[in-house]
Amino acid sequence: MSKFWSPAIQSLVPYTPGEQPRVANLTKLNTNENPYPPAPGVSAVLRAFDYDRLRLYPDPDATPLKAALAAHFGLTRSQVFIGNGSDEVLALAFMAFFRQNKPLLMPETTYSFYDVYANLYGIEHRKVPLDDEFQICLDDYSTDNGGIIFANPNAPTGIALGIDDIEKLLKRNQNSLVLVDEAYVDFGAASAATLVEQYPNLLVVQTFSKSRSLAGLRIGYALGHADLIDGLERVKNSFNSYPMDMLAIEAGCAALADESYFRATCDQVMATRDHSAQELAELGFICLPSSTNFLFVRHRYLEAAELMGYLRTHNILVRHFSRPDIANYLRITVGTDDQMALLISTLEKHPDIQRLPVS
Ligand SMILES: *Cc1c(COP(=O)(O)O)cnc(C)c1O
Repeated sequence: MSKFWSPAIQSLVPYTPGEQPRVANLTKLNTNENPYPPAPGVSAVLRAFDYDRLRLYPDPDATPLKAALAAHFGLTRSQVFIGNGSDEVLALAFMAFFRQNKPLLMPETTYSFYDVYANLYGIEHRKVPLDDEFQICLDDYSTDNGGIIFANPNAPTGIALGIDDIEKLLKRNQNSLVLVDEAYVDFGAASAATLVEQYPNLLVVQTFSKSRSLAGLRIGYALGHADLIDGLERVKNSFNSYPMDMLAIEAGCAALADESYFRATCDQVMATRDHSAQELAELGFICLPSSTNFLFVRHRYLEAAELMGYLRTHNILVRHFSRPDIANYLRITVGTDDQMALLISTLEKHPDIQRLPVS
């Protein structure tokens, strides 16, 4: 606290990202990073990059990447917005769309950054509880609202809604913007990107951080009606004209170009996930059905916080949220088969865990 702080920031409660400790031999399953390297074409771009070009400002519009994303999704460039990670895209979207006279609706259990942005901008919001099975129940979003935001698949539950449900929601809320955050969609859910052409009230946000193994480069984007994209551009150009650096623009294009590498690594993560879920079930864990690159699990009788501490002493990091609704759950990022085998064998050595085959 300082007397120089603007009054409004004194009450901010910032988002807490997962730890990035600099410790050797750590098995890092706490921030949903991809265990595989980015596409080989990314390495080629970075190696060939002429550093002298860094004297110049980058393309403020990230044109090559925007064009590549538009082609990838069968849209025009005017339907694509690019930002410095999807967190930035989300922040600009909150500013552009959700400062309304009616409350923004969001699930009570979801990506905790939404709440942070709403508070940052002083946006009135209402948190809608999930049902008993941790599912988003769209019938609960029928109240008058100034916008709706949720992650699909949801975080940290990992549970996905079907595209039909999303379409129903869009039809019911034609006077409010529905923002679907698809950070994990490539690991087994259906994307609402196919509905962009049809629904001017839909904004789909995706990222290169998870499924394209580029969390370190910070590339996020939004797909939506040209008028929505225009709104985002207005806010962006009132804030930072050059959010995408040259390396991100070029490496992003290379990552997007390699569809077969993308598919192969996503498929591998999903196969490892499903195998790990089976193993965890045999060790007494209850795993929510995941359409993501993480598993959200609780143990039948051991406490999540205790288990997290136990794993940590064995140099394995997983994420635990102390919020009361999910305090007994751990979020475990899907790593390589070797990393997951280490996790399982470490859990098996816990004095209170026994393996019991489940069918
Ligand atoms: C990881 C994540 C993001 C942020 O991704 P970046 O593009 O790295 O900023 C956004 N939403 C959800 C739900 C996420 O899990």
